[in-house]
Amino acid sequence: MKIQELPARAYLAHLRRHPVPELMDEECLAALANVEAQFGDTITHGAGLEVRLGNPARFVDYIMCVDQDYVPGIKCIWYEIDYADYLRGGEISPCLFINTSDYKEEKADEPEHTAAEDDNVQRQEKPFVPPMGKKFWDSVLPPFAGEKRASRLRGQLDRVLAALPPNATIKQIGTMSPRGELDILRLVVIFHQWETIFAWLRDVGWPGDTGAMEQALLPWKEAQGFAVNIDLSESGLLEKTGLEVFGRWRHPLLVDKFIERLEEAGLCLPSKGAALRRWIRILPDGDPFIQTLVTYFKLNYAKGRVTEAKAYLEQSPYIHHHYFPHYERPVRLDMELTDGTAVLPEETALARIRECGENRVRGIRFFGGETYEPLERLLKACVAAGLRAEVVLGRPRAQEQESAALQIEHSWLAALVAAGVDSFLIDLESETDEYALHILAALKELEAANVRARWYMHRDNAGKLAAVAKAAEESGAVELLVTGMKLSAAKNVGTVFPSREQISAAAEFVKDHNGYNESAEGSQESASQETDQNQDTQSAAQPVGMQIAVESCFSPLRAYLDGPDPKYNANRGIERGCEAGRSFMALGADGRFAPCLHWKSGETLQRELQSDRGDSDNTENLVEYWEHAPALQALRENGETRQHCAGCCYERRCLPCQACEEGVTGCPLSN
Ligand code: SF4
Ligand code: SF4
Repeated sequence: MKIQELPARAYLAHLRRHPVPELMDEECLAALANVEAQFGDTITHGAGLEVRLGNPARFVDYIMCVDQDYVPGIKCIWYEIDYADYLRGGEISPCLFINTSDYKEEKADEPEHTAAEDDNVQRQEKPFVPPMGKKFWDSVLPPFAGEKRASRLRGQLDRVLAALPPNATIKQIGTMSPRGELDILRLVVIFHQWETIFAWLRDVGWPGDTGAMEQALLPWKEAQGFAVNIDLSESGLLEKTGLEVFGRWRHPLLVDKFIERLEEAGLCLPSKGAALRRWIRILPDGDPFIQTLVTYFKLNYAKGRVTEAKAYLEQSPYIHHHYFPHYERPVRLDMELTDGTAVLPEETALARIRECGENRVRGIRFFGGETYEPLERLLKACVAAGLRAEVVLGRPRAQEQESAALQIEHSWLAALVAAGVDSFLIDLESETDEYALHILAALKELEAANVRARWYMHRDNAGKLAAVAKAAEESGAVELLVTGMKLSAAKNVGTVFPSREQISAAAEFVKDHNGYNESAEGSQESASQETDQNQDTQSAAQPVGMQIAVESCFSPLRAYLDGPDPKYNANRGIERGCEAGRSFMALGADGRFAPCLHWKSGETLQRELQSDRGDSDNTENLVEYWEHAPALQALRENGETRQHCAGCCYERRCLPCQACEEGVTGCPLSN
């Protein structure tokens, strides 16, 4: 899993951009400044809100996940900051939680078990204790809970752990000292079988009526996972308890249904239900990635009834689901400076750069800069606006080959590097493309960082992949980006898509070359910082030498690389293929916005996209265009309803180029 390091103030800023007044009134929102004052610069791996759904008061407890170094084997600790604490001002003392599954046992730290635990191990197919044996509690509990509390509670803890049923696990432990609970430890225990919850509570002497508790919670039994929150004291478990339900993300419509049930049960105010429904539909930020979700609900129980429902809202730096059509803002703007006819005025380019900086666009990719005198100034403006800048260079037009090669001078490239360019993307037509190889050699000499080569594959050159990869690697490129099956530069018009056999051979070559499980996320090409929790295992492999990536436009090859089983195919959501209008948009040299620069050249297609809407695109304002342009909306919708892909095993993991006249009708992988 890629770890995204954002300071807490980034999550607070996100919250202020998406206020939920039904959950947080102005006083509550303003009081978060006290959290920011103390923790604003703290690196945070996700933040959240605890919401009391049945309580008309509009305040929340604030939650954040931060690095820590005082509990061995555990990287992060969760702070839960009570509203009263951050409202008061002054120093904040959070309640503390750790996820036991985060524990990484040191190699020498072989698990040892108490007799009771060993007995428990024998009764389980998969013991719950491997990461939580005696050594786990010995090393984690005293620094986390304090020596005194740890020694007072240890006997009771061993007793209740030993009685846990097979497959039950401790999810979290917590301390709530700021609430005066000094000799108490919160246990959050996951059960996979409903009945075992109450049997365990009975066995360990929980002081409540387990039959009454089971009756009261029975309506929520169909939830997929259950985690009991219970407090442990020196004399055993305390009566106060709650049940976490719905602890796995599902489709927003299913979350809606759960909220509706809570409303019907009188556990959630309609206004708060409406706010939750809005919260789970906020479009994610692309880079840095932030997604909003409800992580789980908790039902508090006392004396025969559910007394309260709480929702745990999260701002997560990791992708939990792909049910969104585009990012809230484009991650990248492709800016065309010249197109052979039009030239983008410098003041227009600078104004758009400023606009990108003000609207959280992450970077700009410049095209047609070879003969554009102000490019250096644009790069400096990107640095000033905090934007990443990439310059794309390639042989402009056949008739200009010779003179164009002469124009790219070492000193010009050096000036771009000095002006702050972040990366170069060099279009390499073949392994003998002198124009591109000349640029690559000059950049190598300049020791420019992040130099990539891109190669367009079609039926007549598909056999050259190995030779192109060798030439790119020898020229110092850190990545070769293979593209194809899209509307491309004029020189590729008339080329034919590769055959199924050629795609298969290219996929084999890419896998062999990379020497590890190639994935879209490994490429710098991916416009966002996507992190999918399901791909944890891939993060261990470190690429060596130049890597080959497949551009998202060449979606069929990307899909083919990961195989036909959608479960194991990592191409998901808006990044499974064409990203036009989903994670980026373009500005042509004529000053007009477009979904991508290749849509600009396919004007008939762009008109077709708009015709159903009877509207013309706004070119005054980047955000207006991104949110409302009929062309973008049509593109997003059409991508989900394409006919020709029906029945293809890659349908859910592929999004081909819609700007391409042949479209998917010419896809060699179609049935
Ligand atoms: S429309 Fe999409 S797939 Fe086609 S060239 Fe543009 S970004 Fe690539
Ligand atoms: S038929 Fe459609 S879904 Fe299948 S690989 Fe080709 S473009 Fe992708």
